[in-house]
Amino acid sequence: MPDKRYSSIEMIKRLVSFDTTSTASNLALINFVADYLAALGIDSHLIHDESGEKANLYATIGPRDVPGIVLSGHTDVVPVDGQAWDTDPFEVVEKENRLYGRGTSDMKSFIAIALAMAPDFATRDLKTPVHFALSFDEEVGCLGAPLMIRKMDQLGAKPRAVIVGEPTQMSVVNAHKGVYSFITTVKGLERHSSETHRGVNAIAYGAELVNFLTTVGEEMRDQQSDPESGFDPPFTTVHVGTMQGGTAQNIVPLNCIFSWEYRLMPGEDASDIRNRFQAHVERVVLPKMHAVDETTAIETEVRAVVPGLVPEDGSAAEALVLALARKNSTEVVAYGTEAGQFQEAGNQAVICGPGSIAQAHKPNEYIDLGEVRACEIFMRRLLDEVCAA
Ligand SMILES: [Zn+2]
Repeated sequence: MPDKRYSSIEMIKRLVSFDTTSTASNLALINFVADYLAALGIDSHLIHDESGEKANLYATIGPRDVPGIVLSGHTDVVPVDGQAWDTDPFEVVEKENRLYGRGTSDMKSFIAIALAMAPDFATRDLKTPVHFALSFDEEVGCLGAPLMIRKMDQLGAKPRAVIVGEPTQMSVVNAHKGVYSFITTVKGLERHSSETHRGVNAIAYGAELVNFLTTVGEEMRDQQSDPESGFDPPFTTVHVGTMQGGTAQNIVPLNCIFSWEYRLMPGEDASDIRNRFQAHVERVVLPKMHAVDETTAIETEVRAVVPGLVPEDGSAAEALVLALARKNSTEVVAYGTEAGQFQEAGNQAVICGPGSIAQAHKPNEYIDLGEVRACEIFMRRLLDEVCAA
């Protein structure tokens, strides 16, 4: 057994104390969890990224030959840079029935409450296994989870349900949009600004592409609305987030770079907008640029791909989590999660976790202690469930 048993709150404090901002290594946290589980006799698989600086952790408690319940969460948090915090973001402060700290809502509390229960899972006679699945780099495009999902598949895990503990205030969420983001670079040709006809203006062509994306977004809004879906807004959105380019007022700009994304209604064709964009590049914009200079170019790089979570009404996973959370109905959320990745790999996944997304990513992020208690009760019911024959 570990030297000490952690309460949920003690474990939340411990996990928040690791600065696991996505730009940094998460290994200190992962090693702490692996050691903690090892002291309970539970082996962990660590699945590292290419740099070796980050890892997912996957561990199983209970029988190996029965479909289990996956408790899934990301260990990374968003940066605190430039945010006005009243207290140290990596040291939990308890006041007015709240715990303040980076990651308290998004989403170390869910992981901590699950881990604080590990001694119970480890000592009781589980009929259904419980898996801990902790990822890295969720906040920068859900980059870590796919490696872990592949490993789980290699290990022969066939989960009955995946519970992704993103903050839903313990509501049961069965759908979210997909997120597809890109960076497009337009390479033009520099000239003195008096000779526009001999140059290729990268900003002007970049703007043309941005206009195209705006038009596609308007079309999505006008033609593809699905008010019954529960989403706000109930259609696929297209968005350009940043744009840079040019050197000086009197130079035809050489470069223009812009980042863009679409958030796709679950179940829609994921490559449609990307393909339409590329067709517009090749048929309309590039020929105009190449008419002046053949070396000009437009390149688009994929930044992140997070598949949508398609609702599976009445699925076994959904029924289980509704029962554990004592809820009668499911909800949808606007943000992307790893649940879509688990589902794409053939699992039934739902989202249910403590805390509110309204507090996520902000200075003075907090979780209400009531949320912590609600999640503890949820985990106790899960313990009873996995012990039942
Ligand atoms: Zn999150």
